[in-house]
Order: sequence, then structure tokens, then C-alpha cells
Amino acid sequence: MRLFPLLLFCSTICAAQQKAITDIAGGCSTTNLKKNLYYLASAKMEGRAMGSKGDVLAANYVAAAYKANGLTAPYDKNRSYFQSITAILKQDKATLTINNKRFDIFDGWQLYPSLPADLKDMPVILANHTSPDDFYRDLPQMEVREKAVVLNGVLMAKFFKSGIDSLSNVLTKRGALAIIWSSPSVSKVLDRQRSRKFIPQYVQPQTPAPGSVLPLPEIALSPERLKTLLAADNLTTNTDGTLQNPGDKNYRELKTIVSVELNRQFKETHAPNVIGMIKGTDTSLASVVISAHHDHDGVNGKEIYYGAVDNASGTVAVMEIAAMMNRAVKQGLRPKRTIVFASFTGEERGLLGSAWYVAHPVQPMEKTYAVLNIDMMGRPDTIHVNHKMADSTNYAYILVKDTLNRGLRDALYGANDASTKLTLDTHYEAPQYIMRRLTGSDQYYFYLKGVPFIRIDCGFSTDYHKPTDTPDRVNYSLLTKQTQLAFVTLWNLANK
Ligand SMILES: [Zn+2]
Repeated sequence: MRLFPLLLFCSTICAAQQKAITDIAGGCSTTNLKKNLYYLASAKMEGRAMGSKGDVLAANYVAAAYKANGLTAPYDKNRSYFQSITAILKQDKATLTINNKRFDIFDGWQLYPSLPADLKDMPVILANHTSPDDFYRDLPQMEVREKAVVLNGVLMAKFFKSGIDSLSNVLTKRGALAIIWSSPSVSKVLDRQRSRKFIPQYVQPQTPAPGSVLPLPEIALSPERLKTLLAADNLTTNTDGTLQNPGDKNYRELKTIVSVELNRQFKETHAPNVIGMIKGTDTSLASVVISAHHDHDGVNGKEIYYGAVDNASGTVAVMEIAAMMNRAVKQGLRPKRTIVFASFTGEERGLLGSAWYVAHPVQPMEKTYAVLNIDMMGRPDTIHVNHKMADSTNYAYILVKDTLNRGLRDALYGANDASTKLTLDTHYEAPQYIMRRLTGSDQYYFYLKGVPFIRIDCGFSTDYHKPTDTPDRVNYSLLTKQTQLAFVTLWNLANK
């Protein structure tokens, strides 16, 4: 009974607070979003490749916004917002030799190595099976020890579907040295890789779990290179890589000898994350992180990859959210939980900035309540455009993993009901998409550390990762609404 007036008191206060927050969200500045986005996605930034001049300029710009909005600087005795990450640049030179013919990497072949070891003078055994069951039935008779095993496109597709790791494990136990496979799709992949050769490769932060078996090196061949491989045996194949005249056995040893030389060099590099904080009223509580990545793909010759939607949009949203949160604080509405603002570098090079952050956080991961990650906003995606969907300027894709039942979905839907009323589209939460979405942006390393997350985004346009991802193609009204949604959601999370 005695609780009743208290509850009433609280709900009145809460409603008043919610109204004040919605009003602040209403003041979200489209002008600022636009101005900042045009700056971050300008030619001067040269595509903001991790560790480049543009990356540093972008980081400085974000830091200036943090400072202007009174965010606490966590580094260098509260004087710096910059967290310098270390990344290891990897330079590979690889050559494939088939009998005596040498081919540089991407010239009809690609290598997926597990370790930088040379594979010298490997005899080759070819399997012509079209189902894993048939393959495994013959395997005990096949002499795969110290050899490379060639699989056709049909069989490989089935192994990919059922999980390539088990095949790799079985062949490793039998002493095989490598898997060679070919399919018509390899040519397409190689075209794409050649066109993206300007992008540097870095050592990825994920290390195999202790005791796990490293996968066998895989050599993928284009149909043309497969021809080279089979020439000495006068074998010809169908387009899917199966043999035209297989003979009575489904496997055979080839006359061909294959080698791969891999020369790998490493170089230590550094790049900036930008971290700022708004202290909560109860610093004993776990904090909430709002994040976006500011890096993109850089420059290929004269072609700049502007990365306006990906992810200048998310970066300017975080800057604007800092401004709105500062307005709230100035009105006496300080969030209960501390909010950590994170602008990550190196997302495009393999989530390097966020992986570094979760290993070196300003608040321990156990004291991180949730992360709200924003990657790509403000551009109606191909699904909405192609289907002429009515809500194409009033939606957001959402992905929520509330692993600890902390009411993340309530925070998000409650924010949307109270303010923007967008269509919250759960399309990418479907089982066939979720892993790619989960691993495809900075929430992933938080997730691996057990931190629940919300991701908000606009989906993919035809300009995704192309030089045509430019600021003039952004819908600023949509960007504003999605930023408002993120702000109110963040407020709700920080007051749980
Ligand atoms: Zn992105």
C-alpha cells in the first residue's frame, strides 16, 4: 500500500523525464549531421583507411566534438580521447607452381593459408566424387599422406554447406598437406580481390582456441588454372569441375607436382580509437557503450572510397548523440549509468579497433551493461528501394542479442514508441542472416565477451563499399530519425 504513492511519484517523474528526452531528441540537428558527414566523407579524408592521414583527421574531428560537448577524456590524465591501437600489417607474396609453370597470387588462384609455411613439391590426388558420403567411403583406400587433395566444385560446395572444418580435420589426421578446389565462382572472387588489392591486410585478432586443430591450407583455382593442373594427365572437366571421362575409379593420382611458396612479412602499425565518457549519477553501476566506426577503405589510385554511409553516417550520429546527451545533462538529466562513447578505427580491416578496445576497455567488460552499435544509417537499402516500400524513409534494421535479459528490446521499442515511431525491421535477425550480421560489425567482440548488444542500421545500398558511397546520396531526414532513435534508446539503456 505504501508503495503506491511512491510509484505514482516515480511514474510522474519518469513521464516528465521521458518527455524532456523526447524533446531533446526532437532537437537533433539535421544541419549538423549533414555538415559533419560532408566533412568526414570529403576528398580531404581520402577514404579514412585505418592508420592513414584521413583516419587521424577523422579521429581529431570526433575528439573535438567530444570536447565541445563536455565528455570526459579517459587517457593521459583526462587530457586525451585517443586510444592508440596496435595492428600488425601482413604482406604476402605467394607463387603457385604447377609442374614448372609459375603463377603469382590472384593469377587464377588464391590461397587460404593457416600458417605461413611453404608447400614444396606436393604430389596430387584427385577426387571426382560429388557427395561427401561417397568421398568418405573411398577415403580409407585413397593415399592422401603428404599429398594435396583436389576436390571439384560440386563436392566442395557440399562440404562448405556442411562445414569445411570436419573435412579439414579428417584430412589432417590422414597426413594430407592441402586442399585444392576449383569452381567457376573462383574467377569472380579473384576479379574482386584483384580490384581490392590496394587494401592492406592485417593479422586478425581472433586466435584459434587452444588445442584446436588448424585448418589445412586451401588453394582455390579458377577453371582455367584447373586446366593447367590437369593438362599432364590429358583430363578435361565439365564447368563444375567434375571429370568428363572419370573412368571406373572415383579418385586418381595425377602426374602433376604442385608447390606453393609463401613469403609473409609483418609490420607493426598504429591507429586511433576515440573514447569519451559521460559519468553517470551512480558510478558503481555497469556502463553503457555507444559505438560506431569512423574508418573506411581508403584510396585506390585516384579513386576515393568516401564511405559516406559506411560509416561516416554512424560517426556523425555518435557525435550528435554526444551533443544531445550534453543538453540533457545541462537540463539536470544526467543518466544513471556512465556512457562510454566509442569511435572505432579498423572496423573495415577486421574489427581491429573494437577488438583492441574490448581487450583494453576504460571500464571492465564485466562492468559493461550493453553496447549500442551503429554501422551505416541514412540510406534506404536496395530491399526498400526495389520493392518501393512505403516506409523506405521511416525504418531501421535492428539486431538485438540480449544474452543476459537486461531488457534491451524494451529499451529500443520503448524509445521508438516514445519518439520516432519507425518500422523496426527484424529481417536480419532471421537464422540465415544473423551470423553474418553479428560478426560483421563492432558489436562482435563485445558479444564474444558476453556483453549484450543492439545494432541499428539501414541495410545495404548499391553503393556499398564502392567509390560512389558519397554524402549527396544520403537521405538526411532518415539519418536524423535513426539518430534520434539511437539517442532515446541509449538514454533508456543508461537508466535501466
Ligand atoms: Zn561499416
